[in-house]
Amino acid sequence: MPNLDADVIVVGCGNAALCAAISAREKGADVLVIERSPMPQKGGNSYFSGGWMRFTFDSARDLGEDLPELATDGKQDFDVIPYTASKYFDEIAELTEFRADPTLTLLLVNKSRETIKWMHDKGVRFNWTFGRQNLMVKGRYQVSGGNIAVSGGGAGLIEKLVNAAESIGVRFIYETRAVALLGEAGHKVTGICAVKSNGESIELNSKSVILASGGFGASAEKRARFLGPGWDLAKVRGTSSNTGDGIDMALQFGAQSYGHWSGAHAVCWDATTPKSGDRNSGNEFSRNSYPLGLLVNRNAERFLDEGLDFGSNTYGKFGSNIISQPGSIAYQVFDSQVLDFLDTNYSGRMVSKVIANSVQELGEKLGIDGIALQSTINNYNSTLDSKQIFDPNALDGKSTRNLNPPKSNWANPITEAPFYGFTVTTGLTFTFGGVRVDEAAKILSVDDKPIEGLYAAGEMLGGIFYYTSPSGGGLMAGSVFGRIAGENAAS
Ligand SMILES: Cc1cc2nc3c(=O)[nH]c(=O)nc-3n(C[C@H](O)[C@H](O)[C@H](O)COP(=O)(O)OP(=O)(O)OC[C@H]3O[C@@H](n4cnc5c(N)ncnc54)[C@H](O)[C@@H]3O)c2cc1C
Repeated sequence: MPNLDADVIVVGCGNAALCAAISAREKGADVLVIERSPMPQKGGNSYFSGGWMRFTFDSARDLGEDLPELATDGKQDFDVIPYTASKYFDEIAELTEFRADPTLTLLLVNKSRETIKWMHDKGVRFNWTFGRQNLMVKGRYQVSGGNIAVSGGGAGLIEKLVNAAESIGVRFIYETRAVALLGEAGHKVTGICAVKSNGESIELNSKSVILASGGFGASAEKRARFLGPGWDLAKVRGTSSNTGDGIDMALQFGAQSYGHWSGAHAVCWDATTPKSGDRNSGNEFSRNSYPLGLLVNRNAERFLDEGLDFGSNTYGKFGSNIISQPGSIAYQVFDSQVLDFLDTNYSGRMVSKVIANSVQELGEKLGIDGIALQSTINNYNSTLDSKQIFDPNALDGKSTRNLNPPKSNWANPITEAPFYGFTVTTGLTFTFGGVRVDEAAKILSVDDKPIEGLYAAGEMLGGIFYYTSPSGGGLMAGSVFGRIAGENAAS
């Protein structure tokens, strides 16, 4: 067997781990990446992601200088709106209801731009993305921080980072599951214990260990224990490997737990999907166009304000609201007037769709009480003001009157056949509870002291996201803290 000792051992092979491994290797360390999955399944949740990354830029011009593929020449039919550090920070503060750790959040925000440039140097490329509900002013799309994704999505990101790591001599072993940390608990780490897929236990020595093995989203038991009743039944959008091993290992070693342990990012997800992500279909099961229609439960009752904000701002938390509905199931209902505005996902390969010529028939085809659905929709239609103008590309204020829950924007009447219904459930993206790190990404002990040689990055780092996370924030946090962890672990 090859010598598996290293200066730096990185646990996991997703975005955070790969950024950590590359940056440690660039500082001269001998680096070994240990991944639980077989090689063809590498990449964790990062592989399944859409590749959106949220980072700052002060103008279209300096963005184009750093990332030439995003350069604009003034002739394009969209406007680039600067995404400043203060805007990024304020958005996270507001979305997390001011619970986000300000020190960690500032680090994420202030290092986002330079980290993206660093990733670009490793071969990662980016493109603008346009949704069907992008903000539009005077006929021009307004694109900003949340509208940039890695070319090739999550799969492209992992491919480029693995290539970059291999090209500089990072070593990889697959089908090897880290199970415990070695060293003096709470004080100093000296390596890890791992189990190979053939059952053999091995001990690996290192000067530092970077834990980047994701959250606990793939453990049904931990979901029920920490997120609450019913969460064991949620579908997992990504990998089945993120069972919280790294968090367990760190906590058993005296690390401090941190962040929103009962919180997670979760979306409306096609109810017919497998229990965890399908590598061939990526993001196709998302159903994020509910702001243009209604969402009802099995009793044909509405339970939230579908038009509270753009889908890009509510999609990460409305999935969680479905868990507590009967059967953890909900139905998105649209009429033919908004069909052209729905995301392309609604007409893709992986859609379980029901079409009917009346609302009552739609309810029956969906398996709920058609008369009750007709009554909910009649009641909703009766609260609308036909003089308000519908604009899918702005918060149009076209709203219900005296309806509970209200629909605050895009409240079109649902009257034009055919009617469309989509059955959705909760699709868990990733969990927010984890361990506490300092500004060097070093894990803090329960006594608030850095544990020598032990670092964390990615989903398993707690304290930044509460209730939800902005699109592109998860990958960006993984890259920023992964790179910081790698630099410090190597020195
Ligand atoms: C469908 C989907 C779409 C998403 N889209 C976006 C998006 O567009 N933008 C965005 O910012 N975020 C997105 N996210 C969230 C984002 O993907 C994650 O927050 C991010 O990828 C987490 O990166 P990570 O490196 O921490 O974890 P991961 O990428 O999950 O990597 C963790 C790795 O650790 C391995 N591992 C686990 N346990 C062990 C062990 N004991 N020993 C060894 N290895 C282990 C796993 O197999 C895995 O490879 C999306 C997530 C999903 C599921």
